[in-house]
Amino acid sequence: TQAPVITIDGPSGAGKGTVCARLAQVLNWQLLDSGALYRITGLAASRKGLALDDEAAVAAVAAALDVRFEPTPVGVRVILEGDDVTSTIRTEEVGSLASQVAALPAVRDALLQRQRDFRTAPGVIADGRDMGTVVFPDAPVKVFLTASAEERGQRRYKQLLEKGFHASLPALIEDIRARDERDSNRAVAPLKPAQDAVLIDSTSMSIEEVCDQVMNLVRTAG
Ligand code: C5P
Repeated sequence: TQAPVITIDGPSGAGKGTVCARLAQVLNWQLLDSGALYRITGLAASRKGLALDDEAAVAAVAAALDVRFEPTPVGVRVILEGDDVTSTIRTEEVGSLASQVAALPAVRDALLQRQRDFRTAPGVIADGRDMGTVVFPDAPVKVFLTASAEERGQRRYKQLLEKGFHASLPALIEDIRARDERDSNRAVAPLKPAQDAVLIDSTSMSIEEVCDQVMNLVRTAG
């Protein structure tokens, strides 16, 4: 039988990354950060000077990615072709490259098996947009984590200020709404809850409360 999977899908800023990292640590399971794979693909394609709408060429890059995820006490280091790209892939610029390559069906296909390969014992926490709908449709526990656009904008705003960046809160909220619209309406793997996903709205919840709810689902499923 296959190792268990917990899928956590939802829009950016809902708290998926933090919740998934916490759960992976508590359960001592593998963590699949699928967004990172799209970010790395976007970065690799752009470094090779490819046009991001050259579907076949970008898909070939995705299929041949030379990437390593190295766990460290302070988080996972991402090594692309020997180069540490851990912080580079978190920039807005690479986020935009990621969403462009993520819209190409051949790229999504090329990354499918690589994502499924994360499913090893004792289990995997899968963080993304289509984990419960496309990548692991048979996952025993599926969560769709949301929060209001205002709340997600506030969280992003705080993060940016903490890093010493300037930002406009209304502009961030506007960006988030636009991205939600694009992600929910795209033709391939649109952002939507799996039919059997449990919806959690984290707008007025702490990370701990969200993790507790997911752990309760895990206990009832197991
Ligand atoms: O979650 P993260 O912000 O790192 O994802 C970057 C981009 O990759 C998203 O905006 C989305 O367009 C794409 N993505 C996706 N499917 C996933 C994960 C991410 O299309 N499973």
